[in-house]
Amino acid sequence: MRRFIDLHTHSNASDGALAPAQVVQRADEEKLAALALTDHDTTAGLAAAQAAAEQLDELSFVPGVEVSARSEVGSMHLLGYGFELGHPALEGLLEQLRVSRQRRNPRMVQRLQELGVDLTMDDVRQVAAERGGGELISRLHIAEAIRRAGHASSTQQAFERYVGKGAAAYVEKDYRPPSEVIDALHAAGGLAVLAHPVHLDYRNRRHLETILRDLMDAGLDGIEVYHSDHPPEHVRIYLSLARRLGLAITGGSDFHGPTKPNVTVGRPRTPLAAVGKRLADRLGLDRS
Ligand code: AMP
Ligand code: MN
Ligand code: MN
Ligand code: MN
Repeated sequence: MRRFIDLHTHSNASDGALAPAQVVQRADEEKLAALALTDHDTTAGLAAAQAAAEQLDELSFVPGVEVSARSEVGSMHLLGYGFELGHPALEGLLEQLRVSRQRRNPRMVQRLQELGVDLTMDDVRQVAAERGGGELISRLHIAEAIRRAGHASSTQQAFERYVGKGAAAYVEKDYRPPSEVIDALHAAGGLAVLAHPVHLDYRNRRHLETILRDLMDAGLDGIEVYHSDHPPEHVRIYLSLARRLGLAITGGSDFHGPTKPNVTVGRPRTPLAAVGKRLADRLGLDRS
């Protein structure tokens, strides 16, 4: 019986490096009980991943998406799970977010040019195309193009110097409020989970609790407790908050492929048993 799951991964449908079926393959090699593919602002990889997972007896596949949102406390990512594929409420929202990316990307490239980084949108699109990707371009593609142009030694350094939040070439996207994202996920029959709370701008534990309560008022269903950026003491804090507030518990690697070389599918370990019965039932996961 397989005991671990990974509910947060990216494919080349967004800014991951592997095709959806290859991510599924990795999850099976890691002997996971369940995998969710959660590309940024797109569901384009889900059909291929689902088809690949259907060939495998011991791996459950959960359709997912990672949606950008913004409230008074700043930007955040919401993970959606178990929604109906192609539902117009969700697809309409995701399309808006993708259009906003298409407006933003050339502005970031222009800023880079003004900063002396010799780069075009074609160079950025080339990075995505080489990975077999689709239309979606994220800052990770831009960071890789900066590295290739010789202006950073790693994508990490490209974020620090140019495209990280607050850096010289950073441009905001148009975000929707979390309530709107949660409503769209619910309308499509899905659940909404706060991704990697460690990246939220909260001042202390009390402040985080207030933010979570506000999100719960907007319909939030769960919190990502296990994540590759969460040190053990954070995991403990998020676990106890989840239990006290009655939020469902999830976890995942945030795998992207070689562009984030320290992150592999299935790590850190998220026990299937950590996911509550209600969520497991909703996602069709067998905890017995
Ligand atoms: P975007 O959605 O276009 O703003 O791009 C955000 C993506 O860039 C995230 O999903 C990560 O994959 C990546 N990213 C953000 N910050 C960093 C960082 N400091 N180092 C490496 N990758 C990052
Ligand atoms: Mn990403
Ligand atoms: Mn994220
Ligand atoms: Mn992610």
